Amino acid sequence: MCPICADERQWVPADGQRWTDLAELRAAGQRLTWTEREPGLVSITAEPRVGIGQTAQLVTTGEGSLLWDPPGYIDDETVGRIRERGPVLAVAASHPHMFGVQIEWAQALDAPVLVCDRDREWLGRNDSHVELWGDARRIADGLVLYRVGGHFAGSAVALWDAGADGRGLLLTGDTIFPNPDRRSVGFLRSYPNKIPLSGAVVERITAQLEQLRFERIIGNFGNTIDHDGPAVLRFSADRHIRWVRGDFDNLT
Ligand SMILES: [Zn+2]
Repeated sequence: MCPICADERQWVPADGQRWTDLAELRAAGQRLTWTEREPGLVSITAEPRVGIGQTAQLVTTGEGSLLWDPPGYIDDETVGRIRERGPVLAVAASHPHMFGVQIEWAQALDAPVLVCDRDREWLGRNDSHVELWGDARRIADGLVLYRVGGHFAGSAVALWDAGADGRGLLLTGDTIFPNPDRRSVGFLRSYPNKIPLSGAVVERITAQLEQLRFERIIGNFGNTIDHDGPAVLRFSADRHIRWVRGDFDNLT
């Protein structure tokens, strides 16, 4: 039994868990897409979706690259394209749902896998490439991981100062989820099973992120808030806090 799927944040199909491996996916014609989103930023997605089906982001700085939320599939062509962009400084997931085949990526890219210490219990596979970190981890100048917690105790964001034309890009996992309306974000313990975070936790996360400088927010499915990231975050946090506190109970 996969503990990630058995956990209350996820789910198992009615006909039970299904398992696969890289060789089976390769034989079935699995591939990875490669989309340049902005200078220094490439999105990589497995087509068709594998597992949760996240979109990875490859951030390239003058010192090297970060592979964020690695996909659940890996191929030689994409490894080659990433390596062409220079050294890979780290592979890191925003939270355990995004671990994917991170060890395979780390081995192929000769890079460490950064795992937040608070989520080490969720590592399905250990390896000498795994490196634990605590509350913040510098990747390069202007590229830093921060633990924010929420969705998982070790949930992290990546702040890239040069992103969004130098106004700052925040890569988030499920702790901060850009919504389909593109002008608000959600904060949940579980998206499929709709388990909320408390108002106090949402306030803590928002206050922490208000210390950072950024304009754009990109979630782990490529979902994006293009402008005014901090204002969108504050608006969404206040709305969440007021709903869970009961301010709008007259509307229900
Ligand atoms: Zn998740």
